[in-house]
Amino acid sequence: KKLAKQAKAYSDSDINEVGVIGAGIMGGGIAYVTADRGMSVVLKDINKAGLALGLSEANKLLAKQVEKRRKTPIEMGNTLNRIVPTLHNAPLASTDLVIEAVVENPVVKAKVLAELEELAPNAIIASNTSTLEISGLAKSLKRPENFCGIHFFNPVHKMPLVEVIKGEKTSDETLAKAVSYVNKLGKTPIVVNDCAGFLVNRCLTPYFHAFNQLMTDGGQLAVIDKVMSKGFGWPMGPALLLDVIGLDTAAHCIDVMAEAFPERMYKPEINLIQTLADRKDFGQKTGQGFYRHS
Ligand code: NAD
Repeated sequence: KKLAKQAKAYSDSDINEVGVIGAGIMGGGIAYVTADRGMSVVLKDINKAGLALGLSEANKLLAKQVEKRRKTPIEMGNTLNRIVPTLHNAPLASTDLVIEAVVENPVVKAKVLAELEELAPNAIIASNTSTLEISGLAKSLKRPENFCGIHFFNPVHKMPLVEVIKGEKTSDETLAKAVSYVNKLGKTPIVVNDCAGFLVNRCLTPYFHAFNQLMTDGGQLAVIDKVMSKGFGWPMGPALLLDVIGLDTAAHCIDVMAEAFPERMYKPEINLIQTLADRKDFGQKTGQGFYRHS
């Protein structure tokens, strides 16, 4: 209740300029929903092609809105103009919030986060990590009280839930600002305690293990997907979900969870997700995963 009250006090005033670091599947989506709610966004990547991909995704989603007459072409242009793409760090100085959405690798994330603290001195900093403990990532920071997790789900523009993670040293003020930002997006924040995988990925990882086990026992991909989606009313089964997430990201997450919970989240001997990731068949983003995507 106290947090909701504090978040309300920040709403609409404090977070107006947002930095998003990493313009991949998640970063592109986060930039789009943030700009769509009237905030300005600096979208940074180290890779020109990645940046272009993030922007083209926003373009596609907005074009669909125009097609459905939910937005005018002028509104579409205004939203796109609020996203400033960059390969450099300079435009981050005046941001109020920076969200890190680079690869799920603790070493890369620690380096990026430490840089952000210098580049965006007035911002609260958040990680979109799926599985890495926020308190662990905070160790690379001088001001860990300004840091928390803001974990979106994929596809960002469709999924209403966002986990907001309180690390050991996250201040109440930081948490309240993060919650107010999620509210501003029209999404549903759930504040969760810090541990590897938080809440959702602690449920999802064993599901993927069960899918892998079924496959190695001779199960058929399409049948498993059909049963799990029709049986539960979910939009897709595990194989397609893994393709949407990205097999590289999923393989990293499984490693993190196996290390954090060695008794419960084993690393399977035959790991089809890792096999596909090793082949660089990352799913939807490369055109081939468990399925072929045109
Ligand atoms: P992705 O591979 O699609 O994109 C990562 C992007 O980060 C790439 O464009 C890459 O060029 C860029 N990058 C790498 N190092 C960088 C650096 N030092 N500075 C700036 N950019 C850099 O990955 P993704 O699926 O968008 O995942 C990003 C994060 O979001 C990961 O932590 C992942 O666990 C998390 N996440 C992913 C999903 C999902 O379904 N894919 C869901 C929730 C959270």
